[in-house]
Amino acid sequence: MRIGFIGLGNMGAPMAANLVKAGHQVCGHDIAGVSVDGVHAAGSLAEAVSDQDVVITMLPNGAIVRSVYDEIVPLARKHACLVDCSTIDVESARAAHALAHDFELHSVDAPVSGGVAGAAAGTLTFMAGGSLAAFDIAHPLFRIMGQKAVHCGAQGAGQAAKICNNMILGISMIAVCEAIGLADHLGLDRQKLFDVVSTSSGSCWSMNTYAPMPGIGPQSPADNDFRPGFAAELMMKDLSLSQAAAQATGAATPLGAHALELYQAFVEHGGRGRDFSAMVTALADLADSRD
Ligand code: NAD
Repeated sequence: MRIGFIGLGNMGAPMAANLVKAGHQVCGHDIAGVSVDGVHAAGSLAEAVSDQDVVITMLPNGAIVRSVYDEIVPLARKHACLVDCSTIDVESARAAHALAHDFELHSVDAPVSGGVAGAAAGTLTFMAGGSLAAFDIAHPLFRIMGQKAVHCGAQGAGQAAKICNNMILGISMIAVCEAIGLADHLGLDRQKLFDVVSTSSGSCWSMNTYAPMPGIGPQSPADNDFRPGFAAELMMKDLSLSQAAAQATGAATPLGAHALELYQAFVEHGGRGRDFSAMVTALADLADSRD
């Protein structure tokens, strides 16, 4: 396939590189002028889009995706497929789909889970929204860049699944960090806490796979001085998206709201650039300040 790839940042660059390795012709564009081995560097959005079968975007937020779509949609080949893998608000995703539809293009919102490591290893999970026809066009590419792709439903459903998943993740990570702090204060050995919880009803990804305790459980950012991984400010962004969606739809998400407040405070007070699981250190500091 001929593929345009817009946004070659931490996620986009390795994803584009995997498409090249699989034998596709990829033409990439990034305003920062990034170059990726094997990806033809387009000097403009127009060059990256014209005559491509598929155009993938991997951009920071909904406003940027909307402005890029305003530019690229009129330039894309008729019946081309636009695949937005950025994590953005559901409303922007639906607006991008509507614009693509006006110009007779296929479109998929397909945010990902798995982080920079998953992007490099080609093991991302894609959660997709849009028509089945559009999903079928993009599916072979999802299989190269990832290990699983779920068609979640109509336009915006991929973004909806993503923010629900990450709201659970944000809340569950805080729960695990609180349990670690409580165990410390009770004099319970952290390894014993892990051994019990990871095989009991408190088990969850935040404990079993990503325990924020150095030397305990599988390798995680805690073993690397909390270098990300998944940065705290990205978790804050995703929790902001889930809260905006909850407000827009009237869903009750009190713990999601509180998790957002805690991540905002963490990012403002030293958490920026650290893994989101470093919340465990912020809670320990909070406990110390009360002593
Ligand atoms: P990033 O900031 O590293 O990359 C974004 C890239 O987009 C940058 O290189 C930037 O120069 C480029 N860009 C911005 N505006 C542009 C424009 N108008 N035209 C062309 N290029 C433009 O971010 P990232 O970590 O790669 O994340 C990308 C998306 O993936 C975000 O929506 C993020 O929420 C999501 N995501 C990130 C992770 C992660 O672990 N990093 C995990 C899952 C999802």
